[in-house]
Amino acid sequence: MLLAPWDLTASNVYCIGRNYAGHARELNNPIPERPLVFQKPTSSLVAQGGAIILPPESQDVHHEVEVVVAIGREGRRIDPDAALDHVLGYAVGIDVTARDIQREAKAKGHPWTVAKGFDTFAPLGAFVDASVVPDPQNLDVLLEINGAARQRGNTSQMLFPIPQLIAYLSTIVTLKRGDLIYTGTPEGVGALQAGDVLHASLGDGLAMLDVRVERL
Ligand code: ZN
Repeated sequence: MLLAPWDLTASNVYCIGRNYAGHARELNNPIPERPLVFQKPTSSLVAQGGAIILPPESQDVHHEVEVVVAIGREGRRIDPDAALDHVLGYAVGIDVTARDIQREAKAKGHPWTVAKGFDTFAPLGAFVDASVVPDPQNLDVLLEINGAARQRGNTSQMLFPIPQLIAYLSTIVTLKRGDLIYTGTPEGVGALQAGDVLHASLGDGLAMLDVRVERL
């Protein structure tokens, strides 16, 4: 299945932490003053219909459903007012997180790369073209597990809206065509179990993702 109309192995996968106040609160995290940026390796990407593999190194692997932005036009120090012109499309993805490993990293002031970076920890649905999304800042984001709603939010609740994320990231890096931005999760994160079936959707079926959970 064609995941995206470009070579994903050439993409950078940028992620934003704590971009919804409800989620920052549920993990007792402070609200950030500027976007909190981390990265995942491209080897963590999994396409529609694939599986999240729970690694033996973690006993507490969480789901975080997120809107994913794909960059279409390269840019550096992008003006927020022009930022959406750089977007190729939108998808729904899951920022899978080994919460126990992340908790230890946070306590020690260590990076999150291990907690966020296991193979299969970045499921990603197919992209919908940006031209058919009139207002990306008013999209419902939903995650159902085994048929029950577990995370529900709307992109209007983002602390840093998508243009600000693009503008900020592009002060650090040149954003390239095909680069991905996982834009943060609304509240309701929780643990995954082997056998779980996940269905995520964006904007009333505009974009969707189905993945299952397996143990290694
Ligand atoms: Zn996340």
